[in-house]
Amino acid sequence: MKLANNPTKNGEILCVGTELLLGDILNTNAQFLSREASKLGLNIYYETVVGDNEDRLLKALKTAERSDIILICGGLGPTPDDITRDTVAKALGLPLHKDDGILKEIEDYYRRQNRKMPKDVSRQAEIVPDCTVFQNRIGTAPGLAIQKDGRHYILMPGPPRELTRMFEHDIAPYLKKLFKRTLVSRDLMIFGMGESEVADKLGALLDGKNPTVATYAKLSEVLVRVTAAAETQEDAEKVADATAKTVQKCLGDVVYSQNGESLAFQTVSLLKQHCLTVATAESCTGGLLASYLTDISGASAVFKTGIVSYANETKARLLGVAPETLNTFGAVSAQTAAAMAEGVRRSDGGNLGVGITGVAGPEPSEGKPVGLVFVSLSDGKTVWIRKLSAAYLEDRERVRHYAALTALDLIRRYISATPGNLSGGIPVDTPPEKITPKEHLSDFEISAKNPTEER
Ligand code: AMP
Ligand code: MG
Repeated sequence: MKLANNPTKNGEILCVGTELLLGDILNTNAQFLSREASKLGLNIYYETVVGDNEDRLLKALKTAERSDIILICGGLGPTPDDITRDTVAKALGLPLHKDDGILKEIEDYYRRQNRKMPKDVSRQAEIVPDCTVFQNRIGTAPGLAIQKDGRHYILMPGPPRELTRMFEHDIAPYLKKLFKRTLVSRDLMIFGMGESEVADKLGALLDGKNPTVATYAKLSEVLVRVTAAAETQEDAEKVADATAKTVQKCLGDVVYSQNGESLAFQTVSLLKQHCLTVATAESCTGGLLASYLTDISGASAVFKTGIVSYANETKARLLGVAPETLNTFGAVSAQTAAAMAEGVRRSDGGNLGVGITGVAGPEPSEGKPVGLVFVSLSDGKTVWIRKLSAAYLEDRERVRHYAALTALDLIRRYISATPGNLSGGIPVDTPPEKITPKEHLSDFEISAKNPTEER
């Protein structure tokens, strides 16, 4: 197996267009190019925006000599302010000439559309000697790759549709050939462990150069990306998969996906695979869990009922939560959460029920602190309850998101049923007064310490 040990190339992005500097349009091309370049293993160290001005573009091109590959977009159009082609040729000291083949393609483009070709458009057929031309399948300005003094200048049209199409079809393969390396990534998704704890557990794995292992904090989740570079796709896949396995081993069952799929997607897939259905009863999340489930296409096979029972009266009437439970323990309690889960499961007639009740904030409720949430799951025989103390999230939206993810994770763990990952359930008919948070909830208490640490 050949790992790619040839040095990586360094690149930069140069976007040309005064409208970008004025804030008239968002520089989506820079985002697209950065993302695609990193997938290819091209290190982008600089991004520059320069207006349609020859002097400043010449200066920017001079500065860009620090890079091996210079990705340039915009200013290839037919109007007088489109100066990129001419200015790059001038900077490199190369002559431009009209290419008959390209000119014919542009003429054909207008003929197909039954339009008269404006005279200026023929400028777009100009190229420098020995360059590579990338056909523009949906516009008129072709792209160009020019080599000079060991550097590669890649010129691309500004309109995002034209640029993305050209990049995917022609430019990415062109760049791949330059690198003689293929990158393969595996995205491991983690819920229930903070980024610093993940990093601690991965230890020296994070120091590797090839494959690389990196952690990224997401909203209440962590992503670990494993990236391997090799001379062939097959070798890169082998290395990435083996390393992903090692990462999985280090982290255990907090890893819910090895390919970047969302917790909702994984949960719906598991429910489908096991022919199980789930019903939801939500208070503080106001339907967010139902929304996450129904975001996934095909959710109808596993989800029929979602009740938002915000008021106590609704919890009693629609879910059968005993008024004494609500009066004695409050709406935000382990007892109410358990009763909500079983209540909605029974009324739905399916396999599983989930209950969520808590204080999303910003104000405390029932004398209970913001971020206190109880999430429960019932399968008709046993009920599992999780208590979240998410005050550190300090934000209503984030508390709700975290609570909905916790519910999804509870379902995932129930179905995956790896030994020990869902202990501590209590019989569903346990009298409320016997549900003592300390005894029964300790297994599930998720530490308030950094379940997420965002950059
Ligand atoms: P140009 O190739 O400079 O004539 O650009 C044509 C059109 O593409 C512009 O009017 C913009 O709408 C769009 N465009 C140019 N550069 C960018 C960019 N960096 N990001 C997004 N859109 C762009
Ligand atoms: Mg322009």
